[in-house]
Amino acid sequence: MSKFELTQENYYSSEASQHYMSVSLFKDFMKCEAYALAKMKGEWKEEETTALLVGNYVHSYFESKEAHQKFLDTKGKKMVTKQGNLRSDYRRADVMIKALEQQSRFTGLYGPGQKEAIVTGNIYGYPWKGKIDSLSLENLYFCDLKTVDDIHKKHWREDSRQYENFIADRGYFMQMAVYSELIEQTFNAECQPFMFAVSKQDPPDKLAIKFTSDRSLMRMQDAMRMIEENQEHIQGVIRGEEEPIRCNRCAYCRATKMIDLPVDACDIEIF
Ligand SMILES: [Zn+2]
Repeated sequence: MSKFELTQENYYSSEASQHYMSVSLFKDFMKCEAYALAKMKGEWKEEETTALLVGNYVHSYFESKEAHQKFLDTKGKKMVTKQGNLRSDYRRADVMIKALEQQSRFTGLYGPGQKEAIVTGNIYGYPWKGKIDSLSLENLYFCDLKTVDDIHKKHWREDSRQYENFIADRGYFMQMAVYSELIEQTFNAECQPFMFAVSKQDPPDKLAIKFTSDRSLMRMQDAMRMIEENQEHIQGVIRGEEEPIRCNRCAYCRATKMIDLPVDACDIEIF
């Protein structure tokens, strides 16, 4: 096991991701290895998107008063207009927060758990880390909170050649499977996953989601198998033993691309 000690302060650091695989890093590698490697090494920085900030805004509110204040102190400047008013995205985030707060199923399940619980474990031979939004070891469940454009939007998936919901599209079956596994390894407790989704629509939609059907369990197993099948190569790339594959489409690939020999007009790839 890795000697690096994970803390709330260093959890998202580049050093932490060099010691521990995580769901988001793995998903980055599945998207584009060249991009994921550069991002992991801190050679490629992404702009913080408004979507990410809105998500963190809502999360920190339900974590604690202190966490929310700390978030406002560090990111506050990005959130206000020149006139000093809260930007509309964050005013909407406040409405999303209120929409959840009024729901007893949300406050009853999400409220009591330990927030931002760090878990680690070994998955198919490598150390992994995870951060649980709300973990209730007493009642053997955990919750993850998601902010989403539209809970019921359909997403076309080229790999499965069908429309999928946001859970499948965003790799949340993998996230829930990995988190369940890491909680079990860290605390020796089998916890049931729940997800709460709140939409950015006006007014916000909201939904509690469970993962208990055979179909959901199968999707989670499939996701674990995908990790098993791809992890050796990804770790080889991280160790520098294998070449990272470029997707040639993402922002990183476009930015670092050099014009090569001419491609025939009929051979331009379409995706
Ligand atoms: Zn790429």
